[in-house]
Amino acid sequence: MENRSANESEGMQLSRPQPDLEIDYTEVKGKTYSCIDNCALCCLCQPELLPDEAIRFRGDPVLAQGVAERHISPEVKGTALKLRGAHGACHFLANKRCKIYDLRPHFCRLFPVNVFVGWRIQLLTNLSCRGMGLPGSNLQEEAEKIIADYGRAELSEQLDHAKKVFADFVRNCRATGVAQSFSSLRSAADSLMDELTDELGLSRVLTYAEHGRTRQNASPTDIARLARRSDAVADIQERALMDGTELFDLPDLSLLPIYIDEGMVWKIFELKEKRIVGYVLAEDGTTDEFVRIDPNEVELLPFEEQGRRLLGEYLSTINSRDCFLGHAAYLCDMDDYEFNFAQAYLGAMANNALDLWWRSSFLAGLDGREELGAKEIRNGIVFFDMDLLDLPTIGAFI
Ligand code: SF4
Ligand code: SF4
Repeated sequence: MENRSANESEGMQLSRPQPDLEIDYTEVKGKTYSCIDNCALCCLCQPELLPDEAIRFRGDPVLAQGVAERHISPEVKGTALKLRGAHGACHFLANKRCKIYDLRPHFCRLFPVNVFVGWRIQLLTNLSCRGMGLPGSNLQEEAEKIIADYGRAELSEQLDHAKKVFADFVRNCRATGVAQSFSSLRSAADSLMDELTDELGLSRVLTYAEHGRTRQNASPTDIARLARRSDAVADIQERALMDGTELFDLPDLSLLPIYIDEGMVWKIFELKEKRIVGYVLAEDGTTDEFVRIDPNEVELLPFEEQGRRLLGEYLSTINSRDCFLGHAAYLCDMDDYEFNFAQAYLGAMANNALDLWWRSSFLAGLDGREELGAKEIRNGIVFFDMDLLDLPTIGAFI
């Protein structure tokens, strides 16, 4: 399944007509951002080119030098820009400045805003950007300009396509008896925030995801009750260690997640000879080792109140993202609709909460911290959100 998708308010009831071009600005509303000098984190993501940009870049002798033969992710089939030294920054970055700023591609112009098309259009923010929340540009105004630039015809076309994909998903769910209303899933997840930020609660939700039984179109209360009453079989510390280690166990450095620290230093971590090796990454792709850790020494650290609150707020943001719901739908489809959609959704939410908890603990441990306050969770979100937005999903980022 390539690009699927449904109807939020009625969940599985697709018969109700949707307002044309429904656009959700909730995530950008009231937010500001300012680009930070010497950051350039977004220039470490290999930007794809739109079809007309690919023609423009290939037709210009200077721009053509920056066009890659292939994207680092094999599943991306379109044209993209080259990275330097295979895993460094974009070909056009020099001393953390874009050499083709006025000619930069569409996806570079959008950052840190993302436009997701599912059963509606939704504007999202990339919380890996450390400029988010700084006084500066009004993100809703930026987002409105982005939407205006697309033009109605293009948005309609993209939306029609994505709605069909979501409708296919809904039909498949119904046919296999695993359907749930999207709004019920979100309500259930919201009511489980205490569980999702707690070791015992996470174990219950993960056990529910794997072994629970849920009837089709259950109420949010029933879904949450089933998750809460599940046995706590999943070993959270062991799972965090396994998933956290796997995160850095990739064959190609270019695929590793990138972290930008508070001093604007780019860092990557690789699993090598059973140790996590940390490198400072330079623009040209060269690396300089700065730390070597035994993964068994990384433990999930306890939360301070502010840290737990921020984690809960972030999980609520994820819970409102249509691309995340599309990701759970993708997982449901990959599992051939073997599990109820509520289990797929809450399982994905719990796995991501655990991933973020582990990343926050890992980074905090490097700084010698023993508890996770707001600053440590914020660092974890910076490390995590870009990867979350990159998860496979139905619907599309445009
Ligand atoms: S990640 Fe944010 S702050 Fe950093 S360069 Fe990109 S837009 Fe600017
Ligand atoms: S084209 Fe410019 S803005 Fe875009 S990734 Fe490359 S250096 Fe950064």
